[in-house]
Amino acid sequence: MKFDSDFAMLINGQLVTSDKTMGVINPATEEVFAQMPDASHEHLDKAVAAANAAFPAWAARPIAERQEMVVAIAKCLEDNRDGFCRLLTLEQGKGRGGAEYEVDASAGWCRGTAEFTLPVEIMEEDGRRTEIRHTPIGVVGAITPWNVPILMMVWKIAPALVAGNTIVLKPSPYTPLATLKLGEALKDILPAGVLNIVSGGNELGQWITNHPGIGKVSFTGSTVTGRKVMESASATLKRVTLELGGNDAAIVLPDVDPKAIVPALFWGAFFNSAQVCVAIKRLYIHEDIYDAVARELVEYAKGVTVGDGAKQGVDLGPVQNKMQFEKVKSLIADSHGKGHKFLLGGDIPDGKGYFIPISIVDNPPEDSRVVVEEAFGPVVPLLKFNDLDDVIKRANNTDTGLGGSVWSADTDKAYEIAKKLETGTVWINEMFAFSHKATFSGHKQSGVGVEHGIEGLLEFTNTQTITVKALA
Ligand code: NAD
Repeated sequence: MKFDSDFAMLINGQLVTSDKTMGVINPATEEVFAQMPDASHEHLDKAVAAANAAFPAWAARPIAERQEMVVAIAKCLEDNRDGFCRLLTLEQGKGRGGAEYEVDASAGWCRGTAEFTLPVEIMEEDGRRTEIRHTPIGVVGAITPWNVPILMMVWKIAPALVAGNTIVLKPSPYTPLATLKLGEALKDILPAGVLNIVSGGNELGQWITNHPGIGKVSFTGSTVTGRKVMESASATLKRVTLELGGNDAAIVLPDVDPKAIVPALFWGAFFNSAQVCVAIKRLYIHEDIYDAVARELVEYAKGVTVGDGAKQGVDLGPVQNKMQFEKVKSLIADSHGKGHKFLLGGDIPDGKGYFIPISIVDNPPEDSRVVVEEAFGPVVPLLKFNDLDDVIKRANNTDTGLGGSVWSADTDKAYEIAKKLETGTVWINEMFAFSHKATFSGHKQSGVGVEHGIEGLLEFTNTQTITVKALA
């Protein structure tokens, strides 16, 4: 399979191009290096029709066969690992290490999710048998963002397929290529119409959310777009799962060894150039160890290389797109304007590419933009605290509630703090401990519904209760 050209959509088992295309930019060079098809409404209608036509047979297959096909997706990623990694670096910007992590994690996710079965609950009561079962919804419209395109795709298609749904998926227009190539690789593996991939701009996303032939929307992206998705999906009362943004806090207690935890804190904040929905975006450090953690963090960061992800030895690539680049730059400019001290970074280099150096801001005021806004890029504020109740209040003082972390030698104490955080996930003494078995969700405006685990699987189903009473 060629990974550097011929990017086509997958509709009803056929590779389909469009008269219209959109350029895809390499964020390290700002050059258009490939064209993706820009789907028309007619393309979408065909994809939805194909998914509806394929649904009855797919839903009727024994679950073991559907599980096998999800394992085949894993195999496809593993067999084409190098091609997918190269493409992810070109379109997303991430370095080779980050790309390998994404492809391997996606394959592992498929294998894990393929082990799920749909639970059936049976009750015998008053001479009547009641069965509570789960049936697939039909066609799932899946919409993904640009930070980890393959992983976000797999988080949606693996459970949707195991549950017996068919899919129309739209990747972000910034990073459509690896997704389109995975569709091409799966063309002869999945039955025609079971997985359809259409590419295009934001308007295509909106068409999906109000398409009458789609029964559920699974969306990952920003909170602002999430609101629009919910509104648009309401016209046909689609089921929605929304995984949105967050402004995640880490709380570091004074009993930790700064040097020992700093690598995990660093990567928890800056992995994928800080473009991770659950990255550490506000780092609260107890005043007793604030200076030591800050010093170690800066030292560690100095050993990390930012550059073109295609070059060997680069750990962190550019920010993925111009819109996000401008957003992160404006947060940095605001901090400069307000006189905040940068412990590291803060100067944007001239030249091509959306490069932002690792930037660490020293204890800015709690109401500064760099603290209250989700940067989704490599600028992170360090914040001092001395009172636990107060820091928990500060961590919760946001409209979002996606993730958070607590760092302490005393795990019981950390656990008590974790329970008080208003977020869907809290990690203690580590970051990104994802499991396909562990429910993932956002509190407040970080989302609606859940992903992963059995609860996440069931979001791709309707519940059906059948009560059987034998005639006397
Ligand atoms: P975005 O909301 O701009 O775009 C996400 C997707 O929605 C893209 O495919 C886009 O084309 C599509 N879209 C845009 N407008 C639409 C509309 N009106 N209707 C339907 N679809 C539309 O988000 P982004 O900039 O791609 O991603 C960054 C955001 O995603 C960050 O806020 C980040 O925190 C969040 N995110 C969340 C998770 C999570 O699991 N919670 C994971 C990754 C990213």
